[in-house]
Amino acid sequence: MKIFISGLHSGPNPSPGLGVARSLRLAYPAAKLIGVDYSNRSSGIHHDVFNDIWLQPSWDLINLDLYRHQIEQNVEDDAIWISGLDLETIWLSQTITNDSNILIPSSTALLLTAKPFISAHKDLPISVPPFMTLSESDWSLHAFCRKFGWYVWLKGPYYEARRIRSWSDLEFARHELSATWSTDKLFLQSHIAGYEESIAFSAYKGVLLDSVYMNKRDITAEGKTWSGSISNVSSEWYELLEKVVADLNWTGGSEIECVRDGANQLWVIDWNPRFPAWIYGATLAGRNLPAKLVERSTNCTPINTTYISSEYTRVVLEIPTRKLFPLPTLIESSLSTFGWQSKHPSGMPLLAKHIQNTHVNDGDIRIDELDKTILEDLMDINVSVVETPIHIILKKKAHSIFTSVKSLIDGIQSNSSLLISIAYSVKTNPNPFLVRLAYETGMLIEVISQLELEYATKMGFNLDQIILNGPAKYWPKSASLSIRPLASLKVIFCDSVSELNKLDQDGSWPSIIGVRLRPPLINSRFGIPIDDLNAYSDLVHRLSKTPPVCKIAIHFHFASNVLGTDRWMELFDSMLTWSRKLEQHSQHPIYCLDIGGGWFPDDWNDVLLPQLKILIRQAKNSLPNLQEIIMEPGKALVQPTGVVITRVVDIRQLDEQYREVVVDAAISDLPDLSSHPHRILVEDEILGWKVLPRGNDRILGRICMETDVIARNVHLPADIKEGAVLIICDTGAYDRSMSYDFGRGYTGEF
Ligand SMILES: *Cc1c(COP(=O)(O)O)cnc(C)c1O
Repeated sequence: MKIFISGLHSGPNPSPGLGVARSLRLAYPAAKLIGVDYSNRSSGIHHDVFNDIWLQPSWDLINLDLYRHQIEQNVEDDAIWISGLDLETIWLSQTITNDSNILIPSSTALLLTAKPFISAHKDLPISVPPFMTLSESDWSLHAFCRKFGWYVWLKGPYYEARRIRSWSDLEFARHELSATWSTDKLFLQSHIAGYEESIAFSAYKGVLLDSVYMNKRDITAEGKTWSGSISNVSSEWYELLEKVVADLNWTGGSEIECVRDGANQLWVIDWNPRFPAWIYGATLAGRNLPAKLVERSTNCTPINTTYISSEYTRVVLEIPTRKLFPLPTLIESSLSTFGWQSKHPSGMPLLAKHIQNTHVNDGDIRIDELDKTILEDLMDINVSVVETPIHIILKKKAHSIFTSVKSLIDGIQSNSSLLISIAYSVKTNPNPFLVRLAYETGMLIEVISQLELEYATKMGFNLDQIILNGPAKYWPKSASLSIRPLASLKVIFCDSVSELNKLDQDGSWPSIIGVRLRPPLINSRFGIPIDDLNAYSDLVHRLSKTPPVCKIAIHFHFASNVLGTDRWMELFDSMLTWSRKLEQHSQHPIYCLDIGGGWFPDDWNDVLLPQLKILIRQAKNSLPNLQEIIMEPGKALVQPTGVVITRVVDIRQLDEQYREVVVDAAISDLPDLSSHPHRILVEDEILGWKVLPRGNDRILGRICMETDVIARNVHLPADIKEGAVLIICDTGAYDRSMSYDFGRGYTGEF
């Protein structure tokens, strides 16, 4: 008996070849086991379980036709082939026709179990975690990440997953993974918190031969199994699996990787077309899945595998190397290749190049939609004469956002016993047009310093329309600022108990005094940490001593675009509970609730506002003395109301399809570039303004800095010319307020 077994790497992220071979050695002591791999760095080639090693050149050097022919010849006289490499399996299933000695699933079965859809899961009691393919527009991808609070993974179709915590993470990882795996068929998937478990099975021509269940007990830093516990799959599972295996007409080993969440629901993360690398752990438990496969395909009876233990662990062992395969030297460490070959020693990225685009189907990349409501504003701007770069406020757009939000809130308020106020956050963009607009639409204003306070009064706000917030609200103490009677402000929110104490010393209580709470389990530098018993009891004590005429307000603010909209709703709920407790403990009624800002415009419109009535009812139910709710939107209102107009100053054609342009804007004009996607418009002679699609071209800034890249994934028009105008949208919030002078010489006073 001769068995070829591929995928021999045995490191922290191992292939299954060694475990398969050790399992078969127990069952068939006399079999000739031939290990196959594509790199002399795959450590398993040195293990003495193999009678022989058939080492191939790396995938980029293999003549694939010749190799296929050799494999076919090898298995012709009753030898069999068990693949331990996903991509090799995919390639074999596409190239080899109808050779029953190669024990792999068909290409149809592989498609039905391919990520992200894993369609075959439908008949099993498992779900696929929410995902979005990267063919969606950047705008939609960002929305997906916000929804799941940046608990998301970027995954390739074959291997690898990267945790994505921010928009710049995504841009970077997308570039890297698509280069490694020669595909842009990547997808985002929400993280499932829970315990990992796996189901491994062995099948031949649609007949399920055996299946085991494995609970991970220890994992490596990469999340790979280090030790685990083997048991039976339930009889219900086994029956369903029999049916699925029959439908897929599966041949070979397989592993269904799952996560069980807190609600006991099972989510499928991966469906591998091969035995898992821990398969020898199952053999130790007396369940020799590879032997079952070989027995069924060759009709040779194996020696019975005896049960030794239902739990296994890995150890690190030094073994002698084979004389024929002297060790290569360490790879020269240039930064760009560091760790690359040791990560994928079997050269899978190289094979990925060969089989790209044939395995996973996907549509064209979707283009971000043009926000048509800004076109009217753009018509008012004579772009051919504006000096660039320049920030522009889209006044009509701003007007329509402010008035429609205000009338929506007024509508909700008229049916509610509560007062509902919107306080525009000055720091988000202090532009006089916007602040004036807030005033004219009847909003309040939220300020965080004495300078902002002074400015708000200059713009017409009465003191009782101003909310003073932030950690250093009395700064600066400057003689040139007129003294404001703080007691006349609408609310002062204290960021700490010591700040509350100071107010008491000054005796200048406003009619509503607020406290900002730091919610438990949330990493924030602001507010009073109420899960700290001392801080909480200080707060209760302080509140119980405030003058009875002084009304209490509670404030929390945590950016929903960071926390995730779903988790923000949970936070709201938990804040109501804490507020209720504070009210009970301090015996001081809570009069006002301020839910802060931090909303991305789309989430504000599509998630918060539609749910506002329900949230108000919830608040009213929890806090019987509540009379007012304040919201403090900043970017939700103004981010869509600003654009930066810039001009192309140089064009570089790098090769036939790939271009870079330098523009006269710089990161100093767009400091918020890395936190969310920015739609970029270019003028088409016939179609007018259109959004740049995604592609491989780059837009570089004017400053001599490596980081000054405005966009790294756009497709520029073929006929773009020097002097062409680009409009960078979505810059009305922090891109404007945090922009700075840079590379312009000295612009201050002498
Ligand atoms: C900055 C700020 C806001 C507005 O935040 P956005 O992210 O622009 O919505 C609201 N409230 C306070 C206290 C702030 O400091």
